Amino acid sequence: MWADTYKWAYVAIHEGTHRIFCSVCKEFGRKHRRNPYGNEGSRNMQMSALEEHNNSLLHKEALRLQMASKDKSISTLERPIYIKALLSKSTESVVEAVIRRDPHEVEYVQAVQEVVHCLEPVLAKYPQYVQVLERFLEPERIIMFRVPWVDDKGEAHINRGFRVQFNQALGPYRGGIRFHPNVYLGMMKVLGFEQTMKNALASYGLGGAGGGSDFDPKGKTENEVMRFCQSYMQELYSYLGPSKDYPSEDIGVGPREISYLFGQYKRLSGRHEGIFSGPRNLWSGFNMRTEATGYGLVHFAKILLADFSKDIRGLRCIVSGSGKVALHVVEKLIAVGAVPVTVSDSRGYLYDEAGFDDGKLRYIRQIKAQQKSLREYTKSYPRAKYCDEAKPWAERCEVAFPCATQNELNHSDAIALVNGGCRFLVEGAVMPCTSEALDVLRKSNVFVAPSKAASAGGVAVAALEANHSITEIQLQFTIEEFDSRLMDFMREIYVKCAKAGYEYGISKTNTEALVHGANIAAFLQLAEAMQEQGVV
Ligand code: NAP
Repeated sequence: MWADTYKWAYVAIHEGTHRIFCSVCKEFGRKHRRNPYGNEGSRNMQMSALEEHNNSLLHKEALRLQMASKDKSISTLERPIYIKALLSKSTESVVEAVIRRDPHEVEYVQAVQEVVHCLEPVLAKYPQYVQVLERFLEPERIIMFRVPWVDDKGEAHINRGFRVQFNQALGPYRGGIRFHPNVYLGMMKVLGFEQTMKNALASYGLGGAGGGSDFDPKGKTENEVMRFCQSYMQELYSYLGPSKDYPSEDIGVGPREISYLFGQYKRLSGRHEGIFSGPRNLWSGFNMRTEATGYGLVHFAKILLADFSKDIRGLRCIVSGSGKVALHVVEKLIAVGAVPVTVSDSRGYLYDEAGFDDGKLRYIRQIKAQQKSLREYTKSYPRAKYCDEAKPWAERCEVAFPCATQNELNHSDAIALVNGGCRFLVEGAVMPCTSEALDVLRKSNVFVAPSKAASAGGVAVAALEANHSITEIQLQFTIEEFDSRLMDFMREIYVKCAKAGYEYGISKTNTEALVHGANIAAFLQLAEAMQEQGVV
């Protein structure tokens, strides 16, 4: 599959031949002789375009992968890098440095390219920020450690633990902890990077971090999860604290894990500090931490739709995932009168043509709590269908909420989504679309709300926790009051993104206006602080 515009390039293993091509010139293994951009202009102009391409990051990366594929087994190249062509030399060299340093961290390269692409006009206006960007892309601190733990049978296991303290220019680090078998350093950097941008956008004086472990909580007993959390915290606790780093939930980490992590932190540090306010028992009834991301996502969708004179009521919505974010999205969609028709998990997806209601959602929660397959649902609701090993993107909908994991929506999924009538995509998961999928959505005029803006609801709770004691919050806010504050917060973020995009020449009707606006607004906030604080 080749990209059809010169702005994009795809480095791929060609159908089973293990050959890798530069998708701009579509040549293999040598410099090409034809101008890849066509035959327009004088011969001199063509020759200089040709030379520029041969020396470009795109073509060099293709050649590098070709050489690597001759030397090594193909397994080292199973995850090709999708390279986005950038307009200026300076941004290209910034991305090149990231690829050169860690070429195997494909998700991190992807996240960086998506952001840097949007920053071209900012860097053209403020060339001094190129250096700031270079500094920003290298995390401030990476903590990596062994996590030994013993299972219920007395057998010892070893996992790897991470915390990437990405950037604290705007305040103490804050970000999720993920427990999932596919966790590795590159993905932890993505979490830290995206969280830093999200927290900058939220303007609550928080820096960004990401962390976790390749531990899989699925199938583990309560005691095993507790022992693992204690061992993880044993190594990490000295790096955490109210003015240092606040951990929060992510995939595989919910109130249960946060409570165990908090318990061990308290025991080791000797301090009972509210920064881990995930534990439910501390909140005696009031806890918007887990709900805030999903609820906020629906608020954001409502605001976006209203801006296009549309009402969310009655709209068919596809939701992927059936975890904390996804099920709170479904809950809120039901509350606002929309029609959520799917949920999914790592095994397949569930589709209910009539839409879920509160009773059906309670049933889904029960199924997930018992770690059963979503197929169970069809026993009580036989009109619903369950599709094994499949994703929900081909179902008919107006709005899609990907809320499971990174890169869950690829090129062909995006085509299916467009064919099913989708007009708006609101990202709940961090980086849920591959670059190829985003390209399809852009060309098909599907409006994209980026995760760093739309899923920022949790940051509002974190800010509240950082600035008030739990008792104060409980005295001051009912759940309804908090939800209404959350709506205001999401509106502020929406306006900030739209305004930043507009100031840099991106009109409201551009389907990527919020993507550009979010990246621009967040980076400007960070760059200013980093510039003022000197080279640290
Ligand atoms: P979660 O509660 O652990 O739920 C994750 C869901 O995604 C589960 O249904 C899981 O299926 C599914 N899933 C995981 N890996 C998958 C894969 N490879 N293919 C298909 N499905 C997969 O996690 P969460 O907290 O809802 O987080 C979901 C996303 O939202 C993540 O990208 C996270 O970074 C982002 N996010 C979370 C928060 C937060 O506060 N929690 C805030 C902002 C953004 P199984 O049930 O089969 O495991």
